[in-house]
This record gives sequence, C-alpha cells and structure tokens, in this order.
Amino acid sequence: MDRDEAAVEALRALIRIPTVSDWDRDKEDRAAFEALLVELRERFPRLHEACDLQRIAGDALLVRWAGRSAEQPVVLMAHVDVVPVGDESAWTHPPFAAEVADGQVWGRGALDCKGSLVATCAAVESLLEDGATPDRDVWLSFGCTEEVSGGAAKEAVRHLRERAVEPWFVIDEGGAIVEGVLPGVVAPMGVIGVAEKGTAVIELTARGDGGHASAPRKMGATARLARAILRLEKKPFPSHLPDATVEMLERVGAHARMPYAAVFGNAARLRPVLSRVLPRLGHETAAMARTTVAVTQLTGSPAANVIAATARALVNVRVMVGETVDGAIERIRRTIGDPHVEVALVSGDEPSPVSPTDDTAYALLTATLEEVFPGTVPVPYVMLAATDSRHFHRVWPRVYRFTPFRMTDAQRASIHGVDERIGVDDFLDGVSWYRRLIEQL
Ligand SMILES: [Zn+2]
Repeated sequence: MDRDEAAVEALRALIRIPTVSDWDRDKEDRAAFEALLVELRERFPRLHEACDLQRIAGDALLVRWAGRSAEQPVVLMAHVDVVPVGDESAWTHPPFAAEVADGQVWGRGALDCKGSLVATCAAVESLLEDGATPDRDVWLSFGCTEEVSGGAAKEAVRHLRERAVEPWFVIDEGGAIVEGVLPGVVAPMGVIGVAEKGTAVIELTARGDGGHASAPRKMGATARLARAILRLEKKPFPSHLPDATVEMLERVGAHARMPYAAVFGNAARLRPVLSRVLPRLGHETAAMARTTVAVTQLTGSPAANVIAATARALVNVRVMVGETVDGAIERIRRTIGDPHVEVALVSGDEPSPVSPTDDTAYALLTATLEEVFPGTVPVPYVMLAATDSRHFHRVWPRVYRFTPFRMTDAQRASIHGVDERIGVDDFLDGVSWYRRLIEQL
C-alpha cells in the first residue's frame, strides 16, 4: 500500500467508527471514541512514536511534534466527534460504511471533520517517514466535543497556556475551496475564515390564561408568541459588511465577470449599497451581511384539547462580527415590542476577534494554497458557523479557519446533512496542503 492509499484507508477506518457526540455526554458511545484513538495509533505509528501525546478532556488529543525551535509554534486543529446521521435510509451509501464510489469516500465525518483530521496526521506521518523535522513546533489539537459546544477545546487552550505556548498561528476547520458562491466569479476561491460570528440561544416565553380549548380567549400565549416570531421574521437585523467581507469582495473583483468585477473591485466605496444588495442574493449572502435569527424549537400545551398557559420558542441567533450578544437581545426585545413576551438569554458566545490578513502567517497560508491549488483565489471571510477555534481566538490573535478540500455546493450541504462525502483526489490534495504548509514553517 502506498502513502496515498494508506491515507485514504485511514480515513475510511475512522469514518467507520461512529463517534457521535451528544449534548448529554452520558449518551455517547465511549467505546467508539476509545476505538478511534486506538485506530489512530495503528494508522499513524510514526506520529505516535515521535510526538508527545496527551489525552485531555476525556477523548481529546493534544500532540506536540517538536521542531527545531519551540518558539512561536503552530497549532493544527480538528475534531474526532461527528453529528448524528439523521434518517439513515436517506443516505445513498450507509453513513458509517465509508464506501468508495464515484471517486468519493462516503460517510458521516468525511468532511466534518475526519477528513482534515486524517489529512493532518497523514501529512505529519509522511514527513516523519522522510526524516523531516519542522523548523518550529507543530501542535495538533483534536477535540472531541466540537459538535456539542463542549469544553474540550477550552481544555486544550488551558494546557497550552500552562506550557507557555504562544502560537504563531492556529488553523482549524472552516472555509474550503469553493466555486459559484459569489455571482460572476468563475475562479475557485479558497475561503479562509478570519473571524466567526457569535452565537446566542434566546428563549421567548409568552403567558396566557390557559384553560379548556372549547372556549378560547383572543391573544393567548400561543398567538402572542406567534406574533413575536413573525415580527422577528419581518424585521431582520440591519445589514452591514465587516472589513473582512469587503476585502474578500475586493480580492475576487479581479477574477469576476462584468459588471460584478466593477462592483466587487470597489467594495469599500460601495459598502452601503452592497450591504443592502447582499441579503437579497440568497440566504448565505444574507447571513454574511447581518446578525441572523432562527426560531428553532417551539413548545406549547401538553395536550390537543388544552390551551397553552405558557408558550415558548428557542431562538438561535448568530451575532455579526463587531456586534454583541447583549446588543442582539436588546434589539430582539425592541423588535418584538411586547412586554408580555419575556426575552431571556440561555447561552451566548460573543463573535470572535478578526485575524490579520496583512502579515506573514496569512501570506504563508495563501501562498501554500496557490501552490497546491493553482488558479484558486485565496480570500478572507467571516465564518457563519461556530468552531472550536473561537476558544483559541479569545487568547491568540492569528486563528484561521480553513479546510483544504475542494467542496461542491452539494458537498457543503451534506455537512450535518445526508450523503456527506469527500473526493479521494480532493482529500489527497488536502494532505499535500498540510504537508507543504509544515515544510515551509
Ligand atoms: Zn466540524
């Protein structure tokens, strides 16, 4: 088996282990997490021999590959846990079989995040096999609770700080190599997340008289709650473009068709217009331009013939970079404009800081990207989803969210959905990207 085959087989082996994380950790299959760490050891013997490995927070791994210097190391992140598969019958190939078909490896975690986990390890393994030593320490931080916003990544940060590690930069999952996301842009873009939105869960509670469903009153708890939800839907947050988004548009401007080339190329000047237009182009571009509000869970009466005395909605809010969780709650309260609907914060995480795009770390990432993926335009962007790396970003300034795989729209939709899969060649190019990155540190 050559290196490429071994890397693909390692990915398949890891996908077959159902490391599904759960908000209730007691419901997790501990044996699966255990088996994954054993499998990792078997597949990457050199890495396990040459590096210091520390198991933290249960099933997370913190690995140090000593380089020529311990100063300003880099941290490469990934996570071993995956989200549930949903309706298994909807999958074209069984989610934990890791079948190879149509040039792709199919299964839960192929992209999120076992692909980059294995690609990182395969890169290190191959460099060790070649007798390479990196110029600076390379740390690997593999979390086990990313999908349930657990504490493993915080624990990793704590360990690194205890050991006085001050990373030059950190890389975690995030943007990928994508096409067709922005209108008029033909070239593939390598989107590098330089910041991520904050998240907040907010509970709306409306109360009413309740009673028997045969004699309802007007504007009971459910109607009041419904009105509140509609008001949120009708009056979205104001849109504005953060600097990173402006920079993204300016950089792709040179690779776009007219009239987009002219518009994107002048994004800074056209910022007010663009922030009004982007939300109209689609739900993804809308999310790039504003704080979003999604009502995700509703509860009311416990029986079909009982009027709800209390109706509740959980609202998932993604807070724009530059805004705050408190500010978002305040605005939601004002938009609902009903003192009889209680608005309470359940949990909140502020938006991350923004990593620089004008220094050597970012330049190294983009140069490696252009080398391994010729013709791809590297651009910074603000990530819409939350990753473990936000905990690192609270402490260290250069955190970049980039998964070095080409992903189609359908593949991106398969993350947390059905038919998650990664192209074999795309995976192997990802291995090359990590390898080249480490070689050039
Ligand atoms: Zn992930």
